[in-house]
Amino acid sequence: MSEIKLTIGHFYPDLLNLYGDRGNVLALYTRAKRRGIDVEIKEISIGDELNPADIDIAFIGGGQDNEQNILKDDFVKVKGPIIKDMIESGKVFLCICGGYQMLGKYYLEHDGNKLDCLGAIDVYTEAKKERFIQDTIYEVELTSGQVVKAVGFENHSGRTYLGSSVKPFMKVVRGAGNNGEDGYEGAHYKNTFCTYSHGSFLPKNPLITDMLLSLALKQKYGDTYELPVLSTKFEDIAKEQAMTYLDTKEA
Ligand code: GLN
Repeated sequence: MSEIKLTIGHFYPDLLNLYGDRGNVLALYTRAKRRGIDVEIKEISIGDELNPADIDIAFIGGGQDNEQNILKDDFVKVKGPIIKDMIESGKVFLCICGGYQMLGKYYLEHDGNKLDCLGAIDVYTEAKKERFIQDTIYEVELTSGQVVKAVGFENHSGRTYLGSSVKPFMKVVRGAGNNGEDGYEGAHYKNTFCTYSHGSFLPKNPLITDMLLSLALKQKYGDTYELPVLSTKFEDIAKEQAMTYLDTKEA
């Protein structure tokens, strides 16, 4: 058994699980495991106890408006103060689509129903009836300074706007991103990363997976911890295939 241990906290896997969002958890698990790291996945849903010391990376997936309404009380009122502290103290979070919206201040559904969200990061979301549904390409600057292309898939009615304390996670090359207007996608605050890209995001973007693993393990074991090198050969082939295919289609 390895001395290095990583626990992934998967929030609301029974409710926020659109378009294979579990794939992101599996990518984190697999790329850690292949390096000999001892990995555990803890599922945390409504009514479950949340102990931040037990979690090294938190993952919140996407969901429909209906599911977001079902979990909002548990998320905002019960777990909310703990989640805010985790984010402020630099715990690593990856939040997708509905999970991203729930971290912000509010989500105004296109029918006028307003969901007061956690307000852990300075963003808000207002929806329109017309959804953004498409394969996407982004440019992202990793925390190492390396700039890479990333591929994803988005399906959302929400338009998200960022406040001044939050940076965009990526630049849109193809797709709508946060709101279809400003050319940016997702949000980055401390070690919290949010995106509208669903389940195959980390499987197809291994350097982003490794960035999250590295940040989490440095948080846990200190800045001198170096994530062992691991090939990205097969993931890169999947990403290149996706980009080549998208090049042949109209944006
Ligand atoms: N319900 C939200 C929206 O439509 C989030 C959807 C999702 O997570 N795909 O914007």
